[in-house]
Amino acid sequence: MDRIRLLCDISELNHLFRESVSLESFLHETVRMVTLHLKTEVCSIYLYDEDDSMLVMKATEGLNPDSVDHVKMKYGEGLTGLALKEMRPICVSRASKHPSYKLFVGTDEEQYDNFLAVPITRGPAKIGVLTLQRKKKKKFQEEDVLACRAVASQLANIIENAKFLMSMHEEHEPAEPVEQTWNIPAGLEFVRGKSAAEGFALGPARVIDKQKTFDALYQTRYDQIYSLEQFDQAIKTTENQLEDLQSQVEEKLTDAASLIFASHLLILKDKEFVGTMRRLIEEGENPPAAALKVARQFIDLFSRSANVYVREKVQDVEDLIVRMISNLVQEYEKLGDFKGKVVIARDLFPSDLLRMSSENVTGAVLVAGGVTSHIAILARSLQIPMVIANNYDLLHVPDETQVLLDADSGNVYVNPSDEVIASFQKRNADRVSMKDQIARMKPRTKTADGTRVRLLANINLLSDLSMAEQLKCEGIGLYRTEFPFIIRNDFPSEQEQYFAYRRLVLGMKDKPITFRTLDIGGDKVLSYYHDAQEQNPGMGMRSIRFSLQNRRIFSQQLRAMLRAGVDADMRIMFPMIASTDDFRQARMVLAEAMEDLDQEGIPYFPKPKVGIMVELPSVVHMIEELAAEVDFLSIGTNDFIQFMLGVDRTNETVAGFYIPHHPAVLRAIKLVIDAALKHDIEVSVCGDMAHQVEYIPLLLGLGIRTLSLEPSYLPRVQELIEKLDMSQAQQLAKQVLTVDTTEQVAKLLGIRQTMS
Ligand code: PEP
Ligand code: MG
Repeated sequence: MDRIRLLCDISELNHLFRESVSLESFLHETVRMVTLHLKTEVCSIYLYDEDDSMLVMKATEGLNPDSVDHVKMKYGEGLTGLALKEMRPICVSRASKHPSYKLFVGTDEEQYDNFLAVPITRGPAKIGVLTLQRKKKKKFQEEDVLACRAVASQLANIIENAKFLMSMHEEHEPAEPVEQTWNIPAGLEFVRGKSAAEGFALGPARVIDKQKTFDALYQTRYDQIYSLEQFDQAIKTTENQLEDLQSQVEEKLTDAASLIFASHLLILKDKEFVGTMRRLIEEGENPPAAALKVARQFIDLFSRSANVYVREKVQDVEDLIVRMISNLVQEYEKLGDFKGKVVIARDLFPSDLLRMSSENVTGAVLVAGGVTSHIAILARSLQIPMVIANNYDLLHVPDETQVLLDADSGNVYVNPSDEVIASFQKRNADRVSMKDQIARMKPRTKTADGTRVRLLANINLLSDLSMAEQLKCEGIGLYRTEFPFIIRNDFPSEQEQYFAYRRLVLGMKDKPITFRTLDIGGDKVLSYYHDAQEQNPGMGMRSIRFSLQNRRIFSQQLRAMLRAGVDADMRIMFPMIASTDDFRQARMVLAEAMEDLDQEGIPYFPKPKVGIMVELPSVVHMIEELAAEVDFLSIGTNDFIQFMLGVDRTNETVAGFYIPHHPAVLRAIKLVIDAALKHDIEVSVCGDMAHQVEYIPLLLGLGIRTLSLEPSYLPRVQELIEKLDMSQAQQLAKQVLTVDTTEQVAKLLGIRQTMS
């Protein structure tokens, strides 16, 4: 068991990666590490070149070192090629007798008859193969396969990053610097937006317009001449900073933190990148100018790529160069760090937010996006106050301007007066501390007249777990398993998922846990997978559709869940189910995953409750049949409202049309609840409506008895429910169902209409 742990420990590979000076040396270190830990004589890594469909040996420990770069095989050729073609590990004890065996003369491999090949893949992308060979006596075991799969999964990410770097050393003319001026628009003292993640933040602004920062550097005149030594020192400092950041993220967010800064470090280690800069400096160029010139070439090259994944690297180069030059001119504090800053951005990737969180950003304002978008959900998990304000002028606020965020109400104050600051600081000091909230929280929730309501937690990152536990949630109603997938640069392996899920199970002790299967797509794009831009990603290849199309990824995830929940009260929930067909297909994949585990003799939880999310209007019309088949229903109001009303949940400009209390939404919810009651299955709400106090009496009145919400909302929701009288709530629900305009519903619920 120890060796599996050791090998599956991501940090070991991360560490190796940091220590190495190039991809080649990293691969070499990796094969050395694997031979050592798995007590095998040979370990080699082959990389796949898609253009000519060839696998080429790139590193070996144990075989003739001259084989590197010379041993090549066609796709599907030999046992190694077969592993890649069939995308599965191949483990044989008498390799030379296997029909696919191919001997490469001169490698000295004929003496090793035990053979194991594990494909290195990232989702559907084929990257290479990791092979192990041993002499006769010691066969490879299942543990070796598992360990190699974990290693292969980590390798995939690093290799993919490195591959595009290798392909780009062409000469390009630097683009002409662009003249740009920024005016501070008037009337920005107070901007009303919407709260996306509650809290209060005060700090200097940092506008994320990467282009702007980069161009500003490009246009700066560097009067001081720097030396090559100063340049080298700046590179070293940058490397140290990035490594520190990586360690911090790993510590804070174990489930999501795989190599977030990998591409920065890789670019920094790239011989051409720093080498060309150094050459230019030796030829007499001032280091900042040399660095910018080379960075510009990379940026131009990446921005022209048809691949989103490569285009995203533009940001990484810009980030890196800003950091490097700031270190060189000793201005990093001024330019680079997010510590204590209020970030203002058009939009952010989840990985951006994670990076900022690791640098202790204090708050964020986005000028696009909706409050139920996933960047908002992530901000809540990371406890970064966030406001979404549909005002593009905010992007012109000069850096370092003092900004106050009242993210409870969604207001932004630019250059606030001393009085405004003082009054917010007082309000902040008066907040009930988390400690007090924990002390007040009761383990069971009841209405004033004694009706039991179960409060469960929504978990996005494992870091949410501790707050959920302390606030005495009764279990997990929704674990959004996709967040580790979104934030990382690659698909996590089954083993990595298993470790994350296992931590969740151990953290929740005997309480029920609802694992939702992968819900990517829409605004949860995987940069490493979603290559083609979809016109309508919210209605595109997302969620259960993606899982059913990518069976291998789906069944790996189900296996990881089943294994992790072996001794738990675990449930599995499928998102975005549109029909009974979808549900039956998904359940079949689950059954197959269980059969496979049985055959492999791996322990797992054999009887999980299996349910679906109600997020699509089609489900309402099939609810009788579905309720008869599933073990539970959970209403995902975020998507349900979006699809019932045809309003993009991520688009702030149409936010006024996104009306949870629309009579059609409420009547549909009622139909779902009634079907669940009739078939005696649990029905819960796990979308944002579950924490919105204005809707809770109505939901309970309609028959909901289980709510699942983000942990920080638990205290206020419990407090509200304890004051509620159930018969009054039922009366309210009855009345609401009789009216036919949103205005009438709003009046009955006592809420302000936001749309006219
Ligand atoms: C929902 O749609 O309400 C839901 C809970 O899922 P998500 O917000 O992750 O799409
Ligand atoms: Mg949803």
